[in-house]
Amino acid sequence: MKRIAILGSTGSIGTQTLDIISQFPDRFEVYALTANNNVQLLAEQARKFQPEIVCIANEQHYAKLKDSLADLPVKVYAGADAIAQMVSMGPIDVVLASMVGYAGLKPTIEAIKAGKQIALANKETLVVAGELICKLSKEYHSQISPVDSEHSAIFQCLSGEGDNPIEKLLLTASGGPFRNKSIDELEHVNAAQALKHPNWDMGAKITIDSASMMNKGFEVIEAKWLFGIEPERIEVVVHPQSIVHSMVQFADGCIKAQLGMPDMRMPILYALTYPDRMVTNLPRWDYTQCGQLTFEKPDLQKFRNLAFAYQAIKQGGNMPCIINAANEVVVAGFLQGRIGFLQMSDIIETVMAKAAFIQNPTYEDYVQTDCEARGIASSLF
Ligand code: MN
Repeated sequence: MKRIAILGSTGSIGTQTLDIISQFPDRFEVYALTANNNVQLLAEQARKFQPEIVCIANEQHYAKLKDSLADLPVKVYAGADAIAQMVSMGPIDVVLASMVGYAGLKPTIEAIKAGKQIALANKETLVVAGELICKLSKEYHSQISPVDSEHSAIFQCLSGEGDNPIEKLLLTASGGPFRNKSIDELEHVNAAQALKHPNWDMGAKITIDSASMMNKGFEVIEAKWLFGIEPERIEVVVHPQSIVHSMVQFADGCIKAQLGMPDMRMPILYALTYPDRMVTNLPRWDYTQCGQLTFEKPDLQKFRNLAFAYQAIKQGGNMPCIINAANEVVVAGFLQGRIGFLQMSDIIETVMAKAAFIQNPTYEDYVQTDCEARGIASSLF
């Protein structure tokens, strides 16, 4: 029996995790649930899964949450600090980190320091502070299992390979809803169009990141830290059908790929049960129905964010933190209709040039950098 704390239980990954957990009641127990703002869903989840603890990040919602759970024996907390403290509690075995963006960094660090197993869905944590996270996970013997589908695929391809030499990782990308649009057309796309992802049903922030391919850039950075492979040996391959979730090419030229339906419940389950596999009735890929699987190179002229992410990880230091902060600000601006799609990349480029570069940042430097980069990005629109 694994006792699980879900950070971000009302989001896309959180709700799908609870769906999986409910299918294996003798394998998993929900110990803690946290959400940012969605009191109503959090309360419903608490009623159904009977956790020991629930925590709402936005403290304004505390009274409402407390009231709606008054008849249950659950402990109710509020605030980001409460979440960061909660993750180290003794009974928790696994922390599923599925908060959105930079906010996931602090609680993930605390969970690692408590030696918890981390099922990591929050890629921004590794984008912002990959070096620090890797160092801490070694020091505190905290195992990090990827939830991101591409990284789960690579993780599965590497299973049983020991120290066999890897030539490169082939990280697949759907290309998003704008893969076939020209730069002129991209000038005029709006948030509603960007939110219509062809294959994956995800939260708003990551869906915009997918449309701009920043998501794939972040995944290159995530893969570097998770698997210790330099970005020059991580190749992004556009595969619009999202059936091949990624591949590993070994030094002998052999390539292993992991395939399946684009359904996040599979990588979530694997992260929670690794190295075991469970019996499920999740949708199966049917090759007689799928038509062709195709592969092509990404267009870095059109999707500049992908090039920026490579540049940022090559430069290292706090540059990935800078790019992440700038991206969170421009994605919010784009969702509000305040800036255009292509303008997001222009602003990110300017912030990368303007924010103070630090080669060997500490945790405090990341906090400072995040704040500075957000300020610069916000001042540009
Ligand atoms: Mn992914």
